[in-house]
Amino acid sequence: MPGVTATTRVAAVIGDPVEHSRSPSIFNAAFGAAGIDWVYAAFTVPAGGGADAVKAMRTLGIAGLSVTMPHKAEVIPALDHLSDEADRLGAVNCITNSDGVLTGHNTDGAGYVASLRAQGVDPSGMRCVVVGAGGAARAVIHALGRSGATEVVVCNRNAERGSVAAGLAATGRSIGHDELGDALASADLLVNATPLGMGPDDPPVVPAEKLFPALVVSDLVYEPLRTPLLEAAETAGCRTVGGLGMLVHQAAVAFELMTELAAPVDVMAAAAGFAAEN
Ligand code: NAP
Repeated sequence: MPGVTATTRVAAVIGDPVEHSRSPSIFNAAFGAAGIDWVYAAFTVPAGGGADAVKAMRTLGIAGLSVTMPHKAEVIPALDHLSDEADRLGAVNCITNSDGVLTGHNTDGAGYVASLRAQGVDPSGMRCVVVGAGGAARAVIHALGRSGATEVVVCNRNAERGSVAAGLAATGRSIGHDELGDALASADLLVNATPLGMGPDDPPVVPAEKLFPALVVSDLVYEPLRTPLLEAAETAGCRTVGGLGMLVHQAAVAFELMTELAAPVDVMAAAAGFAAEN
């Protein structure tokens, strides 16, 4: 990649914390592979500073921003437009700058569905069970609904949040944990959208005996890459999809929105620090 010059276009991630973000590695590798004079940085922006960061984006002519916690909702009033997804989810993870017109997007759901498709899994016509109803779950539920899932059953600890999240899919409904076993018995796809599996002492997302070979099991957690849920699913003979794919594909969608070029997905996956096939 040529060095940074006076005409290099700048993109960045804003959030707090961002020190451990993989986005600079992923995007800089992509810019290099695409042969474009762009560079990607990381800015620590504490809570409450999201709107000022968007103002700075205008002033400095920053070409694209990735937005992470705690700014996904906070930046919205400072933007000119929102994509349908960002509007529906009330959350932005990518801002594009087209001649000073700033548009907020949410690429998590499209990234998730792309990660399924990359593994040969088409959610259209599938009966899906999503455990969790936080930010990641909401994007996934919305995208599964839009992709033609026959049913999107949301199982969340907090019932009210579960029911609001289920409303993001036309075919959504919310259940309690006591109904999870029954819902799984007729499901085609299980999604873990909780942090369960990150900690060594976490309880299982679902009891291992509820898993069966025809069920596709997907975990949004990518640290560790092979979560206890994915290991249990492999043992049960299920097809599995790990969380790395969503991480890479949501960045790929953001790259395409920012640069209007096709994303070098394999390069981005390698730069994420894992093997592309995971
Ligand atoms: P979030 O907004 O904080 O939501 C967390 C969700 O998990 C909530 O629904 C919460 O339930 C539920 N939950 C938390 N602890 C639980 C427990 N002990 N038992 C049962 N449910 C529990 O978090 P998020 O941003 O959606 O992220 C969720 C996970 O997805 C993250 O930990 C991360 O690993 C993963 N993620 C992956 C990607 C990717 O690119 N692969 C992207 C984003 C997130 P309540 O509503 O009842 O509190």
